[in-house]
Amino acid sequence: MPLLEVKDLRTWFPVKRGIFSPVRYVKAVDGVSFTLEKGEVLAVIGESGSGKTTLGRTVLRLIEPTGGKIIFEGRDITHVPEGMLRWYRFSTAMIFQDPFSSLNPYHTVQYILEEPLILRGVPPKERYEQVVRALEEVRLTPPDDFLKKYPHMLSGGQRQRVGIARALITRPKFVVADEPVSMLDVSIRAEILSLMRSLQSKYGITMIYITHDIATAKYLADKILVMYAGKMVEYGPFKDVIKEPLHPYTQALIEALPDPDPANRFKIRKVPPGEPPSLINPPSGCRFHPRCPYIIKGKCEKEEPKLVEIKPGHLVACWLY
Ligand code: SF4
Repeated sequence: MPLLEVKDLRTWFPVKRGIFSPVRYVKAVDGVSFTLEKGEVLAVIGESGSGKTTLGRTVLRLIEPTGGKIIFEGRDITHVPEGMLRWYRFSTAMIFQDPFSSLNPYHTVQYILEEPLILRGVPPKERYEQVVRALEEVRLTPPDDFLKKYPHMLSGGQRQRVGIARALITRPKFVVADEPVSMLDVSIRAEILSLMRSLQSKYGITMIYITHDIATAKYLADKILVMYAGKMVEYGPFKDVIKEPLHPYTQALIEALPDPDPANRFKIRKVPPGEPPSLINPPSGCRFHPRCPYIIKGKCEKEEPKLVEIKPGHLVACWLY
């Protein structure tokens, strides 16, 4: 049994311009499905506004889903009332994008790390031991140097280490990491991602890693799900998708990566032309068609492609297949 199954998940936000205007919907997540076995990491990739953060928050039930199903450890939690979700809250955690605003500036590192343990009724002596161990695990050593510090006394990288320690101190089974390194200096991103990978594999944590930067996913991901304008356009094993991307949007994201060869450092790479569309009034047919270099005229603008399985576990939504 997979740890997490997400089936045809939809998160639509109603918007109304005036009293007499009809309700319209921002379809931030529109029919996303995937499964995660225990210990697997899924990278969710897409540009800003593709719906990836909404997807992560909906799966954690921080946002109410409009439709579809979320099944965790075999239990359907899609519409379970908040009062009955305590066990799910205790099994899950989130690592936030912004280490500057996600930590309470009035609390010491010690209290920030102790708080989730207090909520779970852990006695003070054990709490202290677990906090010290958590600081050692995220390599904030010696722990005594950090316990009494406030977030403003730490660097961005140290703050994100505290954010990771706080998320993992309760040993969650499932974590959503939402662009955890995008606000950090480029020089420390690889270090933080390697740290996340080592803790994730040490504790067998199942994870969704949300990013706009496909290059950072290589540190963590077993699987990849590419989103465009609320839709999943490609999904499969990370290595297969990177080696042979099928959807023109995935191909464009990979082609836009910097060339690892120093000789080609300044070569201009192709980037997907145009802008992501509005989610309130997305293009008809394939939502990528206004930007697609391979558009099949008369078809792609009218008919929405369904996901098809091209190889075992590798799915794409594109009329070319
Ligand atoms: Fe391009 Fe058509 Fe495929 Fe959409 S369905 S990605 S427009 S070829």
